[in-house]
Amino acid sequence: MTTPLAPALAPGDTIGIVGGGQLGRMLAMAAARLGYRTIVLEPEADCPAAQVANGHIRAGYDDAEALSALARDCAIVTYEFENVPVDAAAALAREVPVLPSPRALEVSQDRLAEKTFLNGIGISTAAFRPVESGEDAVAALAELGGGILKTRRLGYDGKGQVRLSAGDDAAAAFADIGSVPAILEALVPFEREISVVAARGRDGATAAYEPAWNIHRDGILRSSTLPAGVPAETTAAATQSARQILDALDYVGVIGVEFFVLEGGAVLVNEIAPRVHNSGHWTEAACAVSQFEQHIRAVAGLPLGDPRRHSDCAMENLIGDEVFRAPELLAEPELALHLYGKREARPGRKMGHFTRLTGRTAA
Ligand code: AMP
Repeated sequence: MTTPLAPALAPGDTIGIVGGGQLGRMLAMAAARLGYRTIVLEPEADCPAAQVANGHIRAGYDDAEALSALARDCAIVTYEFENVPVDAAAALAREVPVLPSPRALEVSQDRLAEKTFLNGIGISTAAFRPVESGEDAVAALAELGGGILKTRRLGYDGKGQVRLSAGDDAAAAFADIGSVPAILEALVPFEREISVVAARGRDGATAAYEPAWNIHRDGILRSSTLPAGVPAETTAAATQSARQILDALDYVGVIGVEFFVLEGGAVLVNEIAPRVHNSGHWTEAACAVSQFEQHIRAVAGLPLGDPRRHSDCAMENLIGDEVFRAPELLAEPELALHLYGKREARPGRKMGHFTRLTGRTAA
């Protein structure tokens, strides 16, 4: 049983945010702009979100007492990362409305559940085979002829993905990823990667930002560029898929959907993230309503904002000691810098991002 939704939140009401990273920070800032208070649930002290929120419950995401305290003090609860334990989210949902619903977590936490769900609603993904054992891995490789062996669940010590070609020892690769449930995914010869950040309100209305062209390095998003340089049909197909996913999950909030674009313009969904998304940070600088405000509007029961952009732009992440570029970036006109308040610039750590406006969008 989930808690029924009250009418739209009123100014001064409190929104709970599970997770204390930069996405939570930017959600808290957007909530404050709309007159709401926020409480963050996060075990880490002095986390980016708690620095700007009204309250911080320092506890694990599955701490029953802490979750009850959050439910007691908040009108609704949302989350900023997809690995919130589903059981904890479901328990929380019995005490307070949790948006997006825990079903979105369930689907996105497990690559097999995610692809099965997507294919089930008619959305194409890379071909894949479930792998539960070394023998499965060998059989799957023989069938697909190559691919990437990925653990079904994320967060396995950064291990979790091995590229395989025909003739490789798939059983050894399965052992390498920890002999945990996995999938073998066919290698997609993509021309580029794009993503759609879209929102669905409590009333079922949807609003999609234009797709961004994303470049990753070492598994980390480096840049998102608008326009994405894809044909109009590709934009339409990707946007339509995002809307279909939102409706199928009866989703409330912002979602990020990542796509592979094939030569010729067809799209395959790579993965979905039930939250605001790094590839949507550009909306802060190039749209009247950012993805963060859009998410707060959706979960609070307010009307969604206009997702159109007014400018072409390119967002870049500042990773590790790239954060020291800040003074030089601040000197540039038409550039919006956002730092996350993290004290230590460790390698691979997202410290901030900037969006460079590169010209007005033609009407
Ligand atoms: P993932 O963690 O599944 O999003 O994968 C991270 C990155 O690896 C993607 O953004 C792609 O650049 C690449 N990748 C993942 N899966 C595939 C695939 N099936 N074929 C080609 N490249 C992939």
